[in-house]
This record gives sequence, structure tokens and C-alpha cells, in this order.
Amino acid sequence: MAVWKCKACGETKEGRCRPGKCAKCDAPKESFEKVEETTAK
Ligand SMILES: [Zn+2]
Repeated sequence: MAVWKCKACGETKEGRCRPGKCAKCDAPKESFEKVEETTAK
């Protein structure tokens, strides 16, 4: 799993893949950058 952060509004989302789009500010998926790789299952 990884943590993705929206560069537009700072919203974070956990997931294996890049989120589709930001639920908070409606930014496209390109706005998400991976900020952390989590090793927990
Ligand atoms: Zn956002």
C-alpha cells in the first residue's frame, strides 16, 4: 500500500494504485503523488 497526496488540496488517500480523482477538490489523478510506501498488510 502507498499513501497518495493531492498536490492541489493536500488530501491524502491510501491505496495500492493512484486514486482516480480527488474526492475533495476534484483534481485529476495526475495531481496525486506518492508520498509514502507502507509495508503494513
Ligand atoms: Zn485534492
